[in-house]
Amino acid sequence: MQAPDISRAKSAELFEKAKQYFPGGVNSPVRAFKSVYGTPLFIERGDKAHLWDADGNEFIDFCCSWGPLILGHNNDQVREAVAAQLGKGLSFGAPTALENQLAELIIENNRFIEKIRFVSSGTEAVMSAIRLARGYTKRDKIIKFDGCYHGHSDSLLVKAGSGLVTFGETSSAGVPKAFADETIVIQLNDKQALEAAFAEFKDQIAAVIIEGIPANNGLLLQSKEYVHFLRNITKEHGAMLIMDEVITGFRIGFEGASAYYDIQPDIITYGKIIGGGMPVGAYGASKELMACISPDGAVYQAGTLSGNPVAMAAGIAALGILAQKDFYTNLNAKTEAFVNDMRTYIAEKGYKVQLFHVASIFWFAFTEQQEIKKASEIDPKSMESYKIMHRELLNRGVYFGPSGYEVGFVSDAHTTADLDQAKKHIFDALDIVFSA
Ligand code: PMP
Repeated sequence: MQAPDISRAKSAELFEKAKQYFPGGVNSPVRAFKSVYGTPLFIERGDKAHLWDADGNEFIDFCCSWGPLILGHNNDQVREAVAAQLGKGLSFGAPTALENQLAELIIENNRFIEKIRFVSSGTEAVMSAIRLARGYTKRDKIIKFDGCYHGHSDSLLVKAGSGLVTFGETSSAGVPKAFADETIVIQLNDKQALEAAFAEFKDQIAAVIIEGIPANNGLLLQSKEYVHFLRNITKEHGAMLIMDEVITGFRIGFEGASAYYDIQPDIITYGKIIGGGMPVGAYGASKELMACISPDGAVYQAGTLSGNPVAMAAGIAALGILAQKDFYTNLNAKTEAFVNDMRTYIAEKGYKVQLFHVASIFWFAFTEQQEIKKASEIDPKSMESYKIMHRELLNRGVYFGPSGYEVGFVSDAHTTADLDQAKKHIFDALDIVFSA
C-alpha cells in the first residue's frame, strides 16, 4: 500500500520564503526537488546515519550530503576537532600547521600524488587542474565524457553534440561558444571515439578528464581495460590524464579510483570527503607538474579561504579515521551485504530494476539492461519509476538523492539496524513501483 504523505508544512513554508531570496528557492539547483514529487525538505539536523527535517520527520540518510559524509553526521572526532579550532580563529589567510598535517596525512598514504594544493570546492579543484594541464602542455583542447560532471566551470559545462567526435555544445547559457569549442565531448566506453578524437586533433589535446568512476549520471562502471586504454592513449599523445576523484577519492578506498584501477593519472582532483563535511577541494600531481603552479610557476591559482583552518581541522579528523586499517574493508563489506540482500529480493520478485554498486556507492537503474556504461544507454523514461520510489521512501523515512541519476552512499555510521530497516522500506517502495 502507498504510504501516507509525511507532513511538509514547515518545509513548504520555508521554501516559499526561500523563493523570495534565491533563484528557485535554493543555492544549488538539484536541491529544488524538480525531478521528484513534492517540495524540498528543509533539514534541521543530522546525527550518525539519521536526518531530521523542519517538520520533525526522521530519515535514514543515503545522500550523505552528496557523498562527503562517509562518517555520517555529527561524528564525535570531527565535531570535537572543529570545536577545538573555533576558539582559535576561523580564517587567517596565512599558512597554518593544519595544512601541513592534512597534506602529510594524504600524501603519506597516497602513491599517486607528490604535491597537493587545497582549494574550497570540487569545481575549483577541477578548474585549476584543467588550467595546470593546459599550462604544462601548452595546448588548449580538452576531452571530456558525456555523462561525467566536473563542476560548473565554463569549459566543463559542455554536453555532447551528435556524432562520434563532436565539439561540445554548451549546456548552460552564459558559456561562450569559444569555450565549448575547446572541449571535445565523447561517449564513455568507446575506444574508437577516443582514437578518432586524437587522430583529428593530434597535438592540440591538453588533457582527457574522466570521473574516477562516473557517478553523476547514474553509476557508469567502466572496465579496468578501458581505463588503462585511456591512460595509454593519453601518454602516447603527450596529453594529461586528469582523474576527477571528487566523489571517488577517499570513498572507493583511501587512494580512490587510481588504486582501484591501478593507474597513475597525471593530475588528480579531490573534493567532498577531503573536508570531513566542510568546504574543501584539492588537486595533486607529481612534483614536476605542481612546480608549474604559482608562486613557483606560471599557472596562476589562488584562494582567500584556501586551506581554511576549520576545514583543515575537520579534514584531519575525518581522514585520520579513514586511514585506519580495515576502515574500507568493513564499510565496503557492509554495503555489499546490503546491496546483495536487495538484489535477492529484486530477483525473487522479478522486478525490472538493476542495482549497480562499487565500494560504498550504489545506484538503482529501472531497466532490464545488465550493464550501463554510457550516459546514452540510460532511458530517461525510467526516471518515472525512481520518482515513485523516492516519494515512497521519503514517506517511509528513508532519504535518497532527489533524482534518479543520483547514486546512494552508505556511511560508516549506518548500523545493521539502520540498513535492515531501510531494506524493509526499500522493498515496500519497490512493491509500490511495480504494482502500478
Ligand atoms: N567533480 C565531480 C566528480 C563531482 O561529483 C562534483 C560535485 N558533485 C564536482 C566535481 C564539483 O564539486 P563541487 O560541487 O564541490 O563544486
